[in-house]
Parts: sequence; structure tokens; C-alpha cells
Amino acid sequence: MTVSAPATRVGFIGLGIMGQSMAGHLLAAGFPLHLHNRSPDKAEGLIALGAAYHPTPAAVAANADVMITMLGYPADVEQVYFADNGLIPAASSGSYLIDMTTSQPALAVRIADAAKARGLHALDAPVTGGDVGAREARLSVMVGGAPEAFDAVLPLLRVVGDKIVLHGPPGFGQQAKLCNQIVVAGTMLGICEGLAYARESGLDAQKVLASLGSGAAASTLLSRLGPRIVAGDYAPGFYVRHFIKDLEIALADAHASGLELRALRVALDAYRRLASDGAEDQGTQALIEAYRKA
Ligand code: NAP
Repeated sequence: MTVSAPATRVGFIGLGIMGQSMAGHLLAAGFPLHLHNRSPDKAEGLIALGAAYHPTPAAVAANADVMITMLGYPADVEQVYFADNGLIPAASSGSYLIDMTTSQPALAVRIADAAKARGLHALDAPVTGGDVGAREARLSVMVGGAPEAFDAVLPLLRVVGDKIVLHGPPGFGQQAKLCNQIVVAGTMLGICEGLAYARESGLDAQKVLASLGSGAAASTLLSRLGPRIVAGDYAPGFYVRHFIKDLEIALADAHASGLELRALRVALDAYRRLASDGAEDQGTQALIEAYRKA
């Protein structure tokens, strides 16, 4: 099977910052869309555009050929897949499950094994590109799972992303995403330290951003978050609490393979302190606050 619109019915669970935009693109591409979210009100805009709402993941599974999840934490993934009213007990044989949440590699393997036992196909497919990438359908999608399942759902992933890579068997998508988060952790420390130094030196922050943005320090994070940092705009594109979750997963996974990631640990400590100061629902750019002098 290869997915196509409008023949393939798509289920989407998790309509937060990322899921809201991604589900919207799938609906606009002509896929019949079946939704569920913990807070049902977040589905209202998509229902007005023609999507159907269901009270449980199982009810979504009863109406969909491919199910996508974009949840917060591994515990949310566990519940949506394995609970009595979850996806795995309810999905029809031959259907596809795609978890795009940033979650644990080991959980992706468990889902793939349980899915296989029921004749289902599971892929882990976390993304990078942020709220902007989701809005603009330009996400980079890192996939783990069987090549046949990857090929079957590729047209659907192309609706939300412009870089889709199969990294290997189940769990490899999550591990590729952890590589991304390890790089992001160090980069965020560098950006915030550079801009804190600019502030203390009395430099014009806009001029600093302009210079850095076209030199060796340029990055997507600097161009997206640098202006928000300078403006003191900490509205969440990516929650501090979700970044802490990612860094904890990465640190544990690296540690288990005997690798000590020092910059990652420094970043995790800094973000934990920020969260305990009340910033857990702010965007990751709020890290600049850690560099305010007492
Ligand atoms: P979010 O805004 O918190 O969205 C998560 C959604 O999942 C929420 O709407 C939540 O419901 C729903 N949910 C959680 N548990 C559920 C359950 N048991 N049943 C049904 N719905 C449930 O987070 P996000 O920013 O979209 O991020 C989603 C995932 O992508 C996270 O793992 C994050 O780390 C990752 N990610 C985020 C970004 C980014 O820039 N934001 C980029 C790449 C990857 P409620 O509405 O009730 O809270």
C-alpha cells in the first residue's frame, strides 16, 4: 500500500503547537482527518474545516488507515498506544502508526514490537524545525522502522516536511532526533552566552545579530531565536519543559552507551534551574535569563 489523498484516512492525536499545524496541512492536502486531543477544544478550528473528532485514540483507530501522534512526553505516548482505549489494541490489521513525538528510543522499539504482533506497521518519526517549520510544512523528519512501511507513508510525511530520512530500524528516528537535541543544547548555551556578553559590553544587539547572522556563528537557532531573545519575547515555540525532557532522554541514552556528554549536562542543569524559577512553560530562548546578574 502507498498512502494517497483522499483514499487514505488519517488519524491525528496531539493538537498542540506542532500537531495543530501539521494536521492542518494534511487536511488541506485532501486527507480525510480524524482527530483526538486531551483538551478537545484544540480541535475546534480543524473541525470547522472538515475534520472529524473522536473521544478516544481507539475511536480514531477505528476510523483511520494511518495514525499519527504528536504528544508531549513518553508517558503520553505510552498511554495513547497501550491503554485499553489506545491505538494498538484497536487498530485494524495492516494499518500504520507513526509517532512523531520526541520520545525514548526504547519505547519506539516496544511500540514496533507490539504493533508487529498485531499485524500493524509502526514508525518513529520525530521532527526538527520548530513551530515555524511546522507552520511552513518544512520539517526535517527522522524516521526509524521498516523500509516498506517508510515507503508506504512517505507521501504523507512529505506533506509536513521537506527533508525525510530513514535512519534505520525502530528507535533510530528517535536517536537521530537526540543527536539534533544534543547539538541544539550546546548551540543554545553559545547563543545565550554570546548575547549576554553583548548586553554587558554595551553593544547594539541588532548590529551584533546582523554581524553574527552572516558569519561563522550563523544558524537557524540564531536567526529564529536571536531576535526573540533581544526583544525579551519568551513566548513558547518550543517549551523549556519539553527541552528538559529531551535532554534527560539524550543524557540517559548516551550514558547507557558509556558516553559522557559534558556540554549536554551543563545545558540540562541550566534549563532545570530555569524551570525551577518558573520558566518551564516559556520558550527555550528564555535561557538568556540565566545570565542576568543578581
Ligand atoms: P504541545 O503543544 O504540548 O502539544 C502536545 C499535545 O499533545 C497537546 O495538545 C496535548 O493535549 C496532547 N496530549 C498529550 N497527552 C495526550 C493524551 N494522553 N491524549 C491525547 N492528547 C494528548 O507540544 P508541541 O510543542 O506541539 O510538541 C509536541 C512534541 O514534539 C513534543 O514531544 C516536543 O518535544 C516535540 N517537538 C516540539 C517542537 C517545537 O518547536 N514545539 C519541535 C520539534 C519537536 P493538551 O492540549 O490537553 O495539552
